[in-house]
Amino acid sequence: MFALVDCNSFYAACERLFRPDLQGRPVVVLSNNDGCIVAGSEEAKALGVKTGMPVHLARDLIARHKIAVFSSNYALYGDISQRVMATLETLVPQVEVYSIDEAFLDLSLMGEAELLPLAQQVRARVARWVGVPVCVGVAPTKVLAKLANHAAKRYPATGGTVVLTDPARREKLLALTPVSRVWGVGRRLMGRLEALGIETALDLARADSCMIRRRFSVVQERLVRELNGEPCLSLDTQPSPRQQVIHSRSFGEPVTTLPPVRQALSDFAFRAMESLRKESLYAGRVTVYLRTAPMGKPQQLFPNTLSAALSPATADTRVVVHQAQALLTRLWKQGYRYGKAGVILTDLRGRGQVQSGLFTSEQPAEPDSGARADALMAVLDTINQSGAGKVWLAGQGMQADQRSVWAMRRAHLSPAYTCRWSDLPVAR
Ligand SMILES: [Mg+2]
Repeated sequence: MFALVDCNSFYAACERLFRPDLQGRPVVVLSNNDGCIVAGSEEAKALGVKTGMPVHLARDLIARHKIAVFSSNYALYGDISQRVMATLETLVPQVEVYSIDEAFLDLSLMGEAELLPLAQQVRARVARWVGVPVCVGVAPTKVLAKLANHAAKRYPATGGTVVLTDPARREKLLALTPVSRVWGVGRRLMGRLEALGIETALDLARADSCMIRRRFSVVQERLVRELNGEPCLSLDTQPSPRQQVIHSRSFGEPVTTLPPVRQALSDFAFRAMESLRKESLYAGRVTVYLRTAPMGKPQQLFPNTLSAALSPATADTRVVVHQAQALLTRLWKQGYRYGKAGVILTDLRGRGQVQSGLFTSEQPAEPDSGARADALMAVLDTINQSGAGKVWLAGQGMQADQRSVWAMRRAHLSPAYTCRWSDLPVAR
C-alpha cells in the first residue's frame, strides 16, 4: 500500500501561513522576474487565472478581484516543504520525497482498517504542525495513489482523504477519470491512446497489456498493470546522484554591454559552486550560456553555449569563475540585447573520484591547489552561512546598486518568515 500526500496549492498556502488575512482570498505567485503566474490558490483558479499566464494579461483580473500577488519566495517554500516532509516522517517509516510538495509513503505494514485513520492523521498533523493543507490518496500502487489523491482534492465530500482498496470504488473512479489525468500520460501519449479509443483511465486499465507494450513500450505496459492494482513501481527513498548544478537567470531588463554580464556570470558561478560544495562534489566541466532577450531586435535564434573541461575536477570557486569568464569572452557578441545567462556544472563526482593531474603539485607551497583551496572554500562557506557577513569575489560587483542591473525583479516578495532571523514574525 502506498499513500500520496500532496499539498493543496502549495506556494499560495506558504504565502498565507503568516498572513491570516489572506485566508479565503485569491492569491497568485509569480515566476522569477515577476513575468508569469506560476501558481494560484483555489480562489484564483476559480476566477480564471491560469498557470503560465503572463502577468500583464492578468492585470485586469488582479485589479478587479483584488488578487494578492507575490514574487516567488523559494527560500520560504523550500523550508516549509522540509517541515512537511519531516512531519510525515514522524508517522511512517519510509517517505519518498517526490517533489517540493508531494511525497509517497510506504504503508505496506498496515492493516486495511488502519489506512483511513492514518490518512486522516497525516492531514491533521501536517495542518496542526506546519499549517499547510494536504490531501492524501491511498492505494495498492503509486499510479492509483496519484488518482486517489486527485479525487481527494477534487471531491470535497471525501474530506481530503481517499482510500482506494475496494475494487468497485476503484473502477468507478477510473471510469470518471480522463486518461490524460493518469500519472505519466503526457499530451502526445494521450493523442495516441485516444486514437485507439482509450479515453478514460478505465479504458486504459482494460486495454490488453501485451498490445500496449507492443505499440508503446514497457513503461506504458507498467501503467496498465499499476492501474489494475499490480505494483510495478516501488518506493524510491534514495535520491539519485546529482548530474548537474545549474544557476541561470533572466535579467531584470535586457543587457547590451559586457561588464554587467561578467558580473552576473561570476555571481551565478559563485552560487553554483556553493551548491556543489554543499553536496561535497567536484565539477569536471563548466558550461556557460547566453540568450538574447525574447522581445525586441536584433535576436539570436538559439542560445549560445560553450563549455570547457576542468582538470583536475574542482570545488574551487575561483577556478570556475575564471574559466567561465574565459568562455564568456569567446561567446560574447556585441550588438545584441541579452536577456538571460547561466552557468552549468557537469561531470560531477565525489572527492574520492577526483584524479589529480600529473603536473599539479599538492604541496602546501602552492596556494591555489588541492587541500589549501578546499580549506579556503570551507572558510568562505562558513562565513557566508553564519549570517555574520558576506564574502564574495570582486568580479561579482562591489556594490548592491551595481548589481541591480541583472538582479532579479521581485517586487512582491514576502518575508522569509521561517529562515531569516530579521524576518521572524512578531506576535503581539
Ligand atoms: Mg500540490
